[in-house]
This record gives sequence, C-alpha cells and structure tokens, in this order.
Amino acid sequence: MSMNRREFVAAAGVASGLAGTASLAQAAGKARIRTIAAEEGFATPEYVKAMVEIARSDWKNQDLNTWYRLGMRPPAGQTDRWTPLRDRFVDLPDGRLREMDQTGLDMHVLSLGSPGVQLFRADVATEMARTTNDFMAEVIRGHPTRFAGLAAFAPQDPAGAAKEMERAVNTLKLNGFLVNSYTDDGYLDEEKYWPILEAAEALGRPLYIHPRNVSPALFGALSDYYMYGGQWGFGIDVSTHAVRLILSGVLDRFPKLQLILGHMGEGVPYWLHRLDHSFNIGSRKGVSNTLKLKPSEYFLRNFLITSSLILDKEVLRLCLDKLTADRIMFAVDHPYGDPVASVDFFMNANITPAERHKIFHGTAERVFGIAPLS
Ligand code: MN
Repeated sequence: MSMNRREFVAAAGVASGLAGTASLAQAAGKARIRTIAAEEGFATPEYVKAMVEIARSDWKNQDLNTWYRLGMRPPAGQTDRWTPLRDRFVDLPDGRLREMDQTGLDMHVLSLGSPGVQLFRADVATEMARTTNDFMAEVIRGHPTRFAGLAAFAPQDPAGAAKEMERAVNTLKLNGFLVNSYTDDGYLDEEKYWPILEAAEALGRPLYIHPRNVSPALFGALSDYYMYGGQWGFGIDVSTHAVRLILSGVLDRFPKLQLILGHMGEGVPYWLHRLDHSFNIGSRKGVSNTLKLKPSEYFLRNFLITSSLILDKEVLRLCLDKLTADRIMFAVDHPYGDPVASVDFFMNANITPAERHKIFHGTAERVFGIAPLS
C-alpha cells in the first residue's frame, strides 16, 4: 500500500481513537499489518537519577554527556530541547501507549537506554539490571500485546550476567537480551565474556548489540567533530564488535547464537564481500584464524538486523538481497527515531507484501518468541 505522510498522520489520529492495538493500515481500511518495533529505549526515574549522579562527578566519560543534559531540568514551566527526549524516555506505560496509538505502532520491544548498566561497578550494575528487568516485566504483564522486552545484564560480572539472563527468560519471560557494545574496553569475543554468549545460545534468545559512544580504544581519530557518537562512531564501534565476534571463532563455539545489530546492520552488510576476500588472502598466508565458515556465512547465520533510523531505500534493497526479510526487523529507536516516518518508509517501500509482513512483525515474532495475533 502507499500512503503519504499527511494521510499517515491523519490515519494515526483515527487509530488513537480505536482499541489499543489498532494499526494505521486498519484505520485506513486496508489490510491490517501488525507493527512490532524492536529497538525501543526506556529509562526508569531511578536509572536517570543514578546516571545524572555519576554524570555530575569528575569522571570524564563521553557516554555521560547525554545523561548530564537529560538530568538538567529547566525551571518549572519551561522546556529545553532535551525535554521531549527526557519525557519520552520515562513515559512507561501510559505516555508510551498513547504515543504508540497515535503513531500506529502495535508493540514496542523495550530495552534500557544506552549505555545501560555498563558504567557502574559490577555489584551496583548487577542489582540495577535486576530491578530494571523486574520493572520491564511488570510493564509487559500489564500490557502483554503492546510490550515485549530485552533484558539488561551486567557484563562486568559475566557469571552473574548469565544468571540474570536465565532469570529474565525463565522467570520474567522476557524476550532476549541487550548489551551496549563494549564494557570498560572489552568486547564479547574475549573469553571472560563467553558465559554470556553461552547463556544466550542455551536460552535460545537473541542478544542485541546496541551502540554507545565509541570505546576508549577507538576514540582517538573519532574525538573531533562529535564523530564518536551516533552520526559515525556508533556504527564503527558496533560493526567492529560484530567483526570481532566473527573473526575470533566464537561463533564456531556458539553456532546457534543469534545476534542483532540495529541501524541496518551498522554497515556490515556492505562489507561482506570484502570480509571474505581479505579473509581468504589471510588464510592463504596463514595469518587468519581457522574458521569453519567464511565471514559472510557467519553473518548470514548468526546475525539479524533492524532498521532503526536508517530510512534509505537503496540500503534496504542491499540488506534484503543479502539477508532476506527473515533476518530484518522494523525498529524506530525510541526516543530518537520518528515513528511516523519509520512506519511510512516501510509502508511505501518497494518490497513484496510478504517481505513487509516479515519486517513489521513476522521476523520479530519468530526471533523474540512473541505470540502471533490469532
Ligand atoms: Mn537505540
């Protein structure tokens, strides 16, 4: 179907007056498409408070800048440019549901905003992950067709993380896990983190590798022009993380592990040919690791991607050709993405109805264990 932005917004207004799960397409009298958004951030007031506290300390950490500003409320009755962002981070559940109704989204797969618990001391982070996951589970219990959730965990304590991941799936019934890329300066291919990869594989739930400002190891050349952040650094850091996981051989050890990258695969789909080419040369020279598969084969077997913030039809074409819609999911990237523009993009994209259904909900239902609508 095709719907321009104005019609879309009008239809969204209609949808907000209908039952909770009414989608745009339904409101417009077209075939209904369930919309599940897979990378949707939230924060609890306690989390914001803790982040603002460390942001006000002497610790120099790029990830804290955002939180410092989020914590600086303008005088009563006034707003600043951070106010909408701040309010939309802590809007669960009522404000969020209202926005989802207004913009035609059926379900948010929730996750704690970046950098999550990863800046805190191990014991504090582990406790924070527990309370955050409890909060998320409570929100989902109240609105099981509107929310799903990716559990937080503290990589600072890999054994404790594995335990919390197990509790998150088996007790809290959460749908997967999310890590904000590196912790301290370490990436998940390091042996000390293997309990986390092992738990995700054993529990049969995906691990989303979400961005944060680039690691200290990558910071140098990206320290100018804010390149360490969302515009460029996020993708550099997370794609580096993904390629480390591929080239390290850990995916031979955990062959069923499913990993998710946002932002249309953080550039990796573009590089698959080059990864294989250089790997083959490296193998011949004896400098590459011994791997069972080609790098691209791991990517296509062990990774899924979401669309968060990349609304580019040629990039979508590339990703569909490389991964197929069975490995692509819709995401808005709340509170940073524009939900209307994001839905509109896929409604108007030159893709088949079957691809549209998979991207909007089918792939997410399969990967996250979300019950299909009867
Ligand atoms: Mn995000």
